[in-house]
Amino acid sequence: MPRKNPRKVRISLRKNRQKRPRLRNVTREFHDGEPRAVDRPSVERISGKGDLTRQRTIITEEGDSGSPVRRAVDETTCRTGRVLSSSGLHCIVADPAAHRYECTVRRLVRTMSRAERGAVVAGDVVQFRPVDRDHGVIERVEPRKATLGRGTRGKEQIIAANIDQALIVASAADPPLKTNLVDRLLISSLKGGVKPILCINKSDLVDQVRLQPILGMYARLGYDVVLTSAAATTGIDDLKRLLRGHETVITGQSGVGKSSLLNAVQPDLRLETDVVSSWTRKGRHTTRTAVLHPLDFGGWVVDTPGMRQMQLWDVRLEEVEDFFIEFRPFVPGCRFPDCAHTHETGCAVKKAVDNDLLSPVRYASYLKIMSGDE
Ligand code: GDP
Ligand code: ZN
Repeated sequence: MPRKNPRKVRISLRKNRQKRPRLRNVTREFHDGEPRAVDRPSVERISGKGDLTRQRTIITEEGDSGSPVRRAVDETTCRTGRVLSSSGLHCIVADPAAHRYECTVRRLVRTMSRAERGAVVAGDVVQFRPVDRDHGVIERVEPRKATLGRGTRGKEQIIAANIDQALIVASAADPPLKTNLVDRLLISSLKGGVKPILCINKSDLVDQVRLQPILGMYARLGYDVVLTSAAATTGIDDLKRLLRGHETVITGQSGVGKSSLLNAVQPDLRLETDVVSSWTRKGRHTTRTAVLHPLDFGGWVVDTPGMRQMQLWDVRLEEVEDFFIEFRPFVPGCRFPDCAHTHETGCAVKKAVDNDLLSPVRYASYLKIMSGDE
């Protein structure tokens, strides 16, 4: 289908303190229990110095709502593929029959990518041109749905694209459950437009009655919570049910049992990992990259070796309250419209905590995040 010429348009950026209706919609969609990838403005090119400018330039095409990187490709020579892993300029791409190609990225795509600071990332859907049985060239990156990113000096680095959900793994003990870390990871996924699922592993190590308050707290917030033991293989079927048919990134502190859980879910997945990482190790590839693994029972998991224990953190302080969704009914009652709910008098959020209407655990977590403590 012939496409019209791209045109550049200037759009206004929201002011820092403005509310974000999009976020609320995202969260509401999750709470309706209908997970779906939500379009994010992650492929917009930031012009100028981010916060210093109030506008940015995006390239768009008429009749194509805000998908900037679509260039016309010769569809007779190109095939659709999925990027399994990427070092930026070199990628492993699987075709629909799961055959893998080592691909380079065409220069034009590369130039666009750099401007977006995204390059080609794991999870991208691409049009690629096979040059022989095992090699190809990526000609076009399709518009991304939800992305998972991580802040690096105020700029977002996209780790993986087109993911639906994030499995946030914590352990009941050894290492002890850190709700503050869980809350940070929750925020990161919500910010990325990715549905969070909380998995509390190592349930064999504690009396499960002790976990009920925490599980209940997150379940009441509307998040899916699953209790597992990779060691005793309990909760694994529940976990599989949550993963089936979805594209899930695995995240959480080191030592909580992420690898063990993946093994329990699909025993040959490690093998799969080894194949991909030895492939990506040769040449100029790096292993510090996200890797997509197909699940036999449907869906994909995205593993981010070497990165997954890191906090995916790129949220400004003014945004934090947006992600503590249970604060929302109380915020309009605060005396000051710009109340940060930390030290202010007449704060309706603090009052709600004092009156047991809000969880003191979550409020403590909020304060810790607002204080910049890591
Ligand atoms: P990762 O760093 O998150 O990938 O964690 P690993 O899967 O490497 O597990 C860390 C350690 O915890 C290993 O010694 C595992 O055997 C152990 N472990 C993992 N899952 C469980 C579990 O459900 N119960 C117990 N008791 N130990 C577990
Ligand atoms: Zn307040």
